[in-house]
Amino acid sequence: MKCTKCNKKAVIDSPRLCEKHFIIYFETKIKKTILDYKLINEGEKIIVGVSGGKDSLTLLYLLQKWYENVEAISIDEGIGSYREKTLKYAEEFCKRNSIKWKVYSFKQEFGKTLDEMIQKLKHPCTVCGVLRKYLLNKYSRGYDKLAIAHNMDDEAESILMNFLKNNLGISSRLGPLVGTLRHKKFTLKVKPLYFCSEKEVITYAKIKGFYHFVGGCPNIAHSFRNKVRSELKKFENKYPGSVKALVYDFIKQLPRLKVYFRTDQQLKECEKCGEPTLKKLCNACLLLEKLKMLKKQ
Ligand code: SF4
Ligand SMILES: [Zn+2]
Ligand SMILES: [Zn+2]
Repeated sequence: MKCTKCNKKAVIDSPRLCEKHFIIYFETKIKKTILDYKLINEGEKIIVGVSGGKDSLTLLYLLQKWYENVEAISIDEGIGSYREKTLKYAEEFCKRNSIKWKVYSFKQEFGKTLDEMIQKLKHPCTVCGVLRKYLLNKYSRGYDKLAIAHNMDDEAESILMNFLKNNLGISSRLGPLVGTLRHKKFTLKVKPLYFCSEKEVITYAKIKGFYHFVGGCPNIAHSFRNKVRSELKKFENKYPGSVKALVYDFIKQLPRLKVYFRTDQQLKECEKCGEPTLKKLCNACLLLEKLKMLKKQ
């Protein structure tokens, strides 16, 4: 398999490029996403959400290469030895590259690890997602942007999941610049890897030496996302280009969705914790109340 640009050995089949031309293609695509969607402006203070996996290390590596004020934040949900391993990679990477890194844990913030919280629940990913987002937003305050490492495959899964659950309104908050509502306590989230496929990110991370195979989260089997992911993978294998078509078509429709689902509601502060929310209590406080109720049963 030869590179279409120089005839050297290709490192990826679609697009068919050698190492040198793939790096140029991949980095140019991310820079273009940042510029086209105005994700990051010069001089802004950026914090990158880092799990220690290939996507987040790729994103952190590139943003700290291109911008001055870049730091990293990780959340330790407390998921067996899985998160310990990935956080070790995040810590090592930040040390090696002199990046300021901070980590917050569910145990420290909520009194329990995710493993302890979910013993009686069927949907660990819902608890994990709500509480992780809560801490990421809370501790990215003071930064101009929170950069998260969602790739094109992740976005395709989210689009499809929302369709299948009749949640088109939630899809209107997707896109490279996340969300539709603004609040002084709400840090804007951006997704610079939006147009990069998982395969491209793996290829880049392997070339740069920060791809570590740690296996999946032990809770992934319970998640609806995982079911959608495996069906989408089968579909992509049979009809290559489907994931890209889904995301590229969605992004064309997104401005219309944003208008259609526009709301006059304003974000206010949660009556319990003061974090931004549309309701009296934020999702994290509602969830924590529910978890306490489950414990008493
Ligand atoms: S698979 Fe579920 S429980 Fe595991 S890290 Fe992802 S959201 Fe959390
Ligand atoms: Zn080449
Ligand atoms: Zn709250």
